[in-house]
Amino acid sequence: MKTLSAFTAPGRFWRGNLHTHSTRSDGVLDPEEVCRRYRAEGYDFLALTDHFIGRYGYPITDTAPYRSAGFTTILGAELHSGPMGNGELWHILAVGLPPDFAASDAPDFQATPTQETGPEIAARAVAAGAFVAIAHPQWSGLTLADARSIEAAHAVEIYNHGCAMGCERPDGAAIADLLLSEGRDLTLIATDDAHFHEPDHFGGWVMVKAEANDPEALLAALKRGDFYSSQGPEIRDIRVTDDVIEVDCSAVTAVTVQGVGTASTALHGHSMTTARIPLARFAASSFLRVTIRDAAGRRAWSNPIRL
Ligand SMILES: [Zn+2]
Ligand SMILES: [Zn+2]
Repeated sequence: MKTLSAFTAPGRFWRGNLHTHSTRSDGVLDPEEVCRRYRAEGYDFLALTDHFIGRYGYPITDTAPYRSAGFTTILGAELHSGPMGNGELWHILAVGLPPDFAASDAPDFQATPTQETGPEIAARAVAAGAFVAIAHPQWSGLTLADARSIEAAHAVEIYNHGCAMGCERPDGAAIADLLLSEGRDLTLIATDDAHFHEPDHFGGWVMVKAEANDPEALLAALKRGDFYSSQGPEIRDIRVTDDVIEVDCSAVTAVTVQGVGTASTALHGHSMTTARIPLARFAASSFLRVTIRDAAGRRAWSNPIRL
């Protein structure tokens, strides 16, 4: 039987948002107020990830003063350098950066000919200890060639709530599934990308399994893939045998399993808290992943399981 480490690792789940902006870049609220709001909403942790460009002084915002009992923060930034295939600037999420991460040559939101490439700054962030994700691929107009080039990335944003609210382009599933089909080892994160200038907050988060709610334990768990992503529903366990996948979850109306190409199977019902789905459709798939949806249309996404 195969399982996902999120459900077998020791510890408990901690709820966090990995992508957030403040007045240190183009967000509306100052860092302290952003942290206060996430803590008040019941989050266990937050990564403030302001835009790492010269216009804002290359901020790695120090949120350590806003940690308190039951609430922690991870330092990070949204990195920008080099053009994607469409000529626009890369957006790369880096969670767990050191406060002295070296500035790039990225003066503003336009790519310049001399700056480091997106793949280069992503690799530099990973070398510095960060968990790195390809941000909002659908909004960016990311191509498969772009996505392939970020070899250092740990994850893809499968859902970006700010992009859902601001441009109806929240989705990272298409590009993630293509990379997974090619054998790339990737995990899937839901984020807010909150700026607080529209209803772009408290809409997508990660549930990270760790023994302690501290930055080092959370970061290590993120890199191991010990988490799932959600807009509300809970995934409690996933078990895969030779011919069936079993999912335990909070009450949902659909449980869907996705694999390579057209391989997918959905089970529909009322208030389902467990599902058994045959794997007959997935004989040729090198991976599976699970998406559940509740009666309000809110989803949760498992990380991929390699077969
Ligand atoms: Zn962005
Ligand atoms: Zn952002």
